[in-house]
Amino acid sequence: MSEVRVRFAPSPTGFVHIGSLRTALYNYLFAKKSGGKYILRVEDTDQSRFVEGAIENMLQAMEWAGIKNDEGVMLDKDGKVSQIGENGPYIQSERLDIYKEYIQKLLDEGKAYYCFCTKERLDKVRDEQKEKGETPRYDGHCRNLSKEEVQAKLESGEPYVIRLKLPENYVIKFTDAVRGETEFNTNDLDDQVLIKTDGFPTYHFAVVVDDHLMNITHVIRGEEWVSSTPKHVYLYEAFGWEAPVFVHLPNILNSEKKKLSKRQGDVAVEDFRKKGYLPEGLVNYVALVGWSPEENQEIFSMKELEESFSIERVSKSGGVFDTEKLNWINAHYMKEADDELLSKLAMPYMIEEGFIKESEQDEKFDFLKKMVAILKEKISYVKEITDHVSIFFGEDVKLENDDCREFLELEHIPTLHQALIEKLEQTEDLNAENGQAVLKSIQKEYKIKGKNLYMGSRIMLTGQMHGPDLPLVMEVLGKEICIKRLQFVGENLLKK
Ligand code: GLU
Repeated sequence: MSEVRVRFAPSPTGFVHIGSLRTALYNYLFAKKSGGKYILRVEDTDQSRFVEGAIENMLQAMEWAGIKNDEGVMLDKDGKVSQIGENGPYIQSERLDIYKEYIQKLLDEGKAYYCFCTKERLDKVRDEQKEKGETPRYDGHCRNLSKEEVQAKLESGEPYVIRLKLPENYVIKFTDAVRGETEFNTNDLDDQVLIKTDGFPTYHFAVVVDDHLMNITHVIRGEEWVSSTPKHVYLYEAFGWEAPVFVHLPNILNSEKKKLSKRQGDVAVEDFRKKGYLPEGLVNYVALVGWSPEENQEIFSMKELEESFSIERVSKSGGVFDTEKLNWINAHYMKEADDELLSKLAMPYMIEEGFIKESEQDEKFDFLKKMVAILKEKISYVKEITDHVSIFFGEDVKLENDDCREFLELEHIPTLHQALIEKLEQTEDLNAENGQAVLKSIQKEYKIKGKNLYMGSRIMLTGQMHGPDLPLVMEVLGKEICIKRLQFVGENLLKK
């Protein structure tokens, strides 16, 4: 078989839906698994949807996710949009001459025709069809204009589109790798517009010409394109080209089993990135929405995905996006991640939430790194760190609830309080090790142990009943703050 060549062909709309990330990923994985090439092509023929900077955003999202293309549009070292490969240009708006050449072939062979119908006429036809309960479609008004009529209209400058001339009552068949054999009758299809009034091709025309010229062997894309595929297949036939293998991926669904849409919150790669999900976590999770590995494995590095992925195991039905599972997977990567990296990612959230001033970020970096080291076990994504750091700030102690207050009324608390102050004053630089030693020696000397010792100390030092490992917390707080807090507790929270 010839070399596998797949493509991801986004329309740059300004944000990358999580479903697009998965489409890109499956294309990439399939190429890697088959030793083929993965191409990125920009489909920007809908000029009315042009969004400034959208291509850059999309490419940055791909780069962040680690989904690198071998050919096509990519960012260069300086972050500028560039194109690499022998089948370019890879941006459709730069390929207009190519589409002109190919549409001419279809026109010459009578497989496409000029249509001069005005919008008003088309609207009228559609309304009438709707009234009669028919499916609205083009009525073929311009299908059989004579050469002379067409020539005259063109010369007089009448605006036109070019449509595909579908044969009547003709069955178009194709096999989808996920859904199997699919058939459509041309009687149910419209004479698709191939070239628009602005001279740009429609998606349907450009996609076929480009996939053919770029030697694409497998078209892996979202299932919303299934109903367009017969038109594409017919175009391949009309040109006498071999069609690629079609692989339509089921949608990613929300918990109500509807297509995951922007209105329900986080659906863009950018949304997850902004919350501090790690690319490894998001990619690992997204790979599993709609594809099931042979073994019962859930954690996959990109390398492992490259080795395990197969189209045969892509499911026919839509996968539900499960934030809890995403969090569980991301938490795994958080635990593994380097403290330095996580601290860099965490700093902007700490500044945003007012825990660290922007001007102090350098001097507070090591302090943050210590918090990160303790807390990364407890959080699913970086932003969540701000929900847990308040215990590390301030010299006062705020009790989190009445249970804490009641705990501080227990008989042993004054002794524990006094002992902690004394022993902490005797330590040199407080760290987790001698912090632990302080607690142990109190246990030994005063016979205060277990919950009485640990929870009591924790409440007096942090105001909370539960939290990260206490000696580690003591190290992050440092001797001075620990003593100040205990003094505060003595003056304000303990019975005199
Ligand atoms: N430009 C289309 C999109 O954004 C690509 C569809 C396809 O892959 O053929 O979804």
